[in-house]
Amino acid sequence: MYHTSLSHRGIGIAVYPLDGTDDQELAKHADVAMYQAKESGRNALQFYSEEINQLSIERLRMEGELRKAIDNNELFLDYQPKVKTSTGHMTGMEALVRWNHPGLGILFPVQFIKYAENCGLITQLGAWVLRQACQDAALWTKNGFTGLKLAVNLSALQLQDGTQLVELVKQCLQETGIEPQLLELEITESMMVNDSNQAASILTQLRDMGVSITLDDFGTGHSSLALLRNLPVQTIKIDRSFVTNLKAESHNANFIGAIISMAKNLNLHVVVEGIETAEQLNVMQHHGGDEVQGFYFSPPLGREALLDLLSGRLPFGGGLENTGNIPE
Ligand code: C2E
Ligand code: MG
Ligand code: MG
Repeated sequence: MYHTSLSHRGIGIAVYPLDGTDDQELAKHADVAMYQAKESGRNALQFYSEEINQLSIERLRMEGELRKAIDNNELFLDYQPKVKTSTGHMTGMEALVRWNHPGLGILFPVQFIKYAENCGLITQLGAWVLRQACQDAALWTKNGFTGLKLAVNLSALQLQDGTQLVELVKQCLQETGIEPQLLELEITESMMVNDSNQAASILTQLRDMGVSITLDDFGTGHSSLALLRNLPVQTIKIDRSFVTNLKAESHNANFIGAIISMAKNLNLHVVVEGIETAEQLNVMQHHGGDEVQGFYFSPPLGREALLDLLSGRLPFGGGLENTGNIPE
């Protein structure tokens, strides 16, 4: 006897008598296995096991703690500068969320975003991120650093609940006085697979408000070109996996060159992430990528440290110039 749980992204299986001796227990454990199958994100099939059970307990614990994290002010944002390739001027920054977990220390998004998405908390977390980032951007503007673009990452689930997202963006812009043209929303390809028509309609509403849309981690998903055709995207951000081991005469350099030429033909702006060395920067300059981002210039910085960087109190990596104003 066995019990299977099915969802559109995974199948979980529990086998009698190893995984349960009655129908109820088997069903519960098949569900636990299905959750894990879904999380692996590959339309997977997963058998129940003790290890899977432990992961499930861990997930429930993290979801519970994350629920409290927002109210307890345990989340914070770091900001990573983006730089214009041709001039070295800073054009803006990307907000990246972190969780100062009371027992585990600082956690990075890869360690908790999936839990937030799983239990629906991502809407609340995403709203906190957007509001906080807009408030911080207003602070920099108040300190005289105008014209910097603020990029915020979005989760697919925020797009599924689209009306709420459009309202949230309007509210945050109104509350903080940030111009819509200075807000950029980064979405990833993997998010779109479920319902790209719904996403296109929401993103079009946001674009019509003046907010710009960037396709993040470009080149890693399966549907990059179809998405570019269907979505109102202004910018692509080439994934850092293309930048690793980037040498002037290399397969990856040819790839980046080809992506940039395609993007130019489609009138798209190109950002390249994960620049860590001068050589990688040279390749980008050679191929004409518009903007770059990476540890070579700056790691993600806390709000105050970013203000120090803008004020010239912190050195800007890569020997490039630092200015709050976008040239042109
Ligand atoms: P992403 O948007 O592609 O962000 C870039 C990630 O690469 C960041 O990791 C950043 O710290 C890291 N990075 C930047 N430059 C370099 C470099 O030169 N070398 C290397 N090796 N890494 C570099 P982080 O902060 O851990 O964020 C990971 C992902 O989590 C982000 O990828 C984004 O997809 C997601 N994320 C971050 N903040 C949020 C958020 O507020 N909401 C949502 N939904 N997702 C978020
Ligand atoms: Mg991003
Ligand atoms: Mg990325």
